[in-house]
Amino acid sequence: MKKEFVVIGLGRFGGSIVHSLADQDLEVMAIDKDEDKVNEFASIASHAVVADTTDEAVLKSLGIRNFDHVIVAIGDNIQASILTTLMLKEIGVNNITVKAQNDYHEKVLRKIGATHVVHPERDMGRRIAHNIVSNNVLDYLELSDEHSIVEIVANDHLDGNSLIDLDIRAKYGINIVAIKRGKDILVSPQADETIQAGDILIVIGADSDITRFEKKVLL
Ligand code: ATP
Repeated sequence: MKKEFVVIGLGRFGGSIVHSLADQDLEVMAIDKDEDKVNEFASIASHAVVADTTDEAVLKSLGIRNFDHVIVAIGDNIQASILTTLMLKEIGVNNITVKAQNDYHEKVLRKIGATHVVHPERDMGRRIAHNIVSNNVLDYLELSDEHSIVEIVANDHLDGNSLIDLDIRAKYGINIVAIKRGKDILVSPQADETIQAGDILIVIGADSDITRFEKKVLL
């Protein structure tokens, strides 16, 4: 059966989620208290509804409990975001993803049982900072406060070295979990695999170890 989603709050963030789900041909109900916003999405979402989601009776009448995943993309109004999340939880929605505005907001959302809390501005800021510090870092995914997965472009220093030659795991405590080479991807590369300049290395490890590797090998 097709998954069904609800997006509450049709600002830039919520709106782009609706667009993306609709592009993938998925059922999505778009909700906002602002009628103009709802009209904007009437032809994009499967249903577009004007509603204030801090009203429990409204949430129940929309049958939100029956949807697989609800995304709360109410930004500035932290109180409305928290109240909506709390009510979704009480109604029994299993998957609730909420956009947090700041660390304090995030803490409260986690406490009241949001399944996922996203912090797009902060996360994108961190990604960009990583890319700025090293041109070789293409992308960066934070796994915890101290661990990440990063995509690093192999430069001439690495060219022609096998993974054994580099001894990355022993020297830096990090692991190369895959190598992207053109259209190919080598998952769990063998120790004798030779790196070529331009390969994209998918590296997992502690941030401090990854940074050490970047400084020693790439700069
Ligand atoms: P953006 O995503 O555009 O960067 P943002 O995430 O800060 O900005 P806002 O403009 O603050 O988004 O709010 C997102 C939407 O949430 C707005 O369109 C607003 O009308 C809607 N919204 C706010 N409170 C409620 C509510 N109680 N019920 C339904 N929709 C709401």
